[in-house]
Amino acid sequence: MPSKTNTLSTFTNALSTACERLGYSDSIHKLLALSAREIKVEIPIVRDNGELAVFSGYRVQHHNARGPYKGGLRYHPKVDLEEVRDLASLMTLKTALMDIPLGGAKGGIDCDPHSLTSRELEMLTRKFVKRMHRHIGPEMDIMAPDVGTDASIMGWIHSEYSAIYGHSPAVVTGKPINLGGSQGREKATGYGVAIVIDAVARTRGGPLSGATAVIQGFGNVGMHAAFCLRDLGVKVIAVSDSRTAVYGKDGLDLDGLVKHKQERGTLEDVDGHRNISHEELLALECDYLIPAALGGAITRKNVDTLNCRHLVEAANAPVTPDAEDALLKRNVEIVPDILANAGGVIVSYFEWVQNLQRRAWPLFKVDRELNRILHGAAHDVMSRSHDEGITLRAAAYEIAAMRVKDALDATGF
Ligand code: NAD
Repeated sequence: MPSKTNTLSTFTNALSTACERLGYSDSIHKLLALSAREIKVEIPIVRDNGELAVFSGYRVQHHNARGPYKGGLRYHPKVDLEEVRDLASLMTLKTALMDIPLGGAKGGIDCDPHSLTSRELEMLTRKFVKRMHRHIGPEMDIMAPDVGTDASIMGWIHSEYSAIYGHSPAVVTGKPINLGGSQGREKATGYGVAIVIDAVARTRGGPLSGATAVIQGFGNVGMHAAFCLRDLGVKVIAVSDSRTAVYGKDGLDLDGLVKHKQERGTLEDVDGHRNISHEELLALECDYLIPAALGGAITRKNVDTLNCRHLVEAANAPVTPDAEDALLKRNVEIVPDILANAGGVIVSYFEWVQNLQRRAWPLFKVDRELNRILHGAAHDVMSRSHDEGITLRAAAYEIAAMRVKDALDATGF
C-alpha cells in the first residue's frame, strides 16, 4: 500500500477504506493515491526595502484521467510539498464526485501575503508563473484562488501567462469579472456550503429555518456561507477570524460585522456583540458547526468540547481521523469537504467553459447549474451512505474513486 506520513491522513485513511471495500488491487490504490507530477521552484524577489527574499513555490498535479489538472493556489507561511500534495489528491476526488471533466492539482507559495506589499505580491506571482508556465495552461493545469490568494492574484497569473502564449483567460479561474471571471465565483464555495446543508436538512427531514450555525473562519468561504445560510433562515450565532471570535445568541448582524472588519481590519469590539475565545466558539451548542479556516482545526485535543449536531467541512481536511472517530461515536454527522466545499470548483469549471467558448453566463444560470450539480452530488452521497450503511465521507470517496478508476480503465492506463 502507498504510505504517506501526511498531515491530512483523513484522505489516506478514507481512500484506503474505499479501495478495500471496492475490491481494488494495490496497484490501483497506488495509482489513485500518488501524484502524477510534483514541481518545486525557488522564487527570489527584491523587496521594497531593497532586500532579497527567496520563497518556495509548489505545484502538485495529482490526476488528469478525467480532464486537465485543476486546483487552487495557496499563499501561507506553512505551505510545503506535503500539504500541497494532500490537497491535490482531495481535488481529484472532488472533481470526480461532482462529475465535472477536470482532474486534481494544488499549488502554493510559502509566504505570508499580509506581510508583503501589493507590488511585492505581484512580483512574486509573476515570477512564479515565469518558472511554472510550461506546466500549466487551459488544457493542462488551471489554477484558482485558495487561502491567501484572490481575484487580483489570478489576474496577474492570467496576464503573465498570456504575455507568453497569447490571450489565455482559461489558464486560471476566480479572475476579476472584467478579465473573464465568472459571475458568482467569489461567493461560490460559501454558497455551495449552504446548498449542501440545505440538501442534507431536506433529506434528514429537519427544518433548516431556525437552525443555528457556528462558523470558524470569516474569510471568503466562511463569510459567504454565513450570508447564504442567513438567507435560508439559519441563525448564525458565532464566527471567528485568526484573532478572535464573535458571539450573539440571537444571531449576528453580519452586515455590521463585515463593515466593521473592512473599516478596522478586525472583529474585535463590534457594537452589540460579545467577543469570545476560539475555544469557546468551538464549544457552542449549535446544529451546524462549520470549520472554514485551515486544515486540522478539530483534533483529539478539542473534539470532546464540541457541541454540534452536524459538522460541515467547509475548509479542506479540518477534522483529523481520531477526532472523526470520536464525533461518529457521538452520532455527529460529518459532511465531508469533497462535497461541502465543492461549490468553488464547480463555478471555476463554469468560468473555464465560458472562457473557452468566449461567452459570459448570467448569474441566474451559474446559480441554477451550481444548485443542480451540488444537489445531485449530495443526493448521490446520501443515498450510497444509506444503502451501504457507511459514513457520508466513505460514500463520497467510493463514488469519486469509482469514477477516476473508470476513466483510467477507459484510457487503458
Ligand atoms: P481566506 O484566507 O479567505 O479565509 C480564511 C479565514 O480563516 C480568515 O478569516 C482567517 O482570519 C481565518 N482563520 C485563520 N486561522 C484561524 C483560526 N485559527 N481560527 C479562526 N479563524 C482562522 O480563505 P478561504 O478561501 O475562505 O478558505 C478557507 C478554507 O476553505 C481553506 O481550508 C480552503 O482550502 C478551503 N476552500 C476554499 C475554497 C475557495 O474557493 N476559496 C474552495 C474550497 C475550499
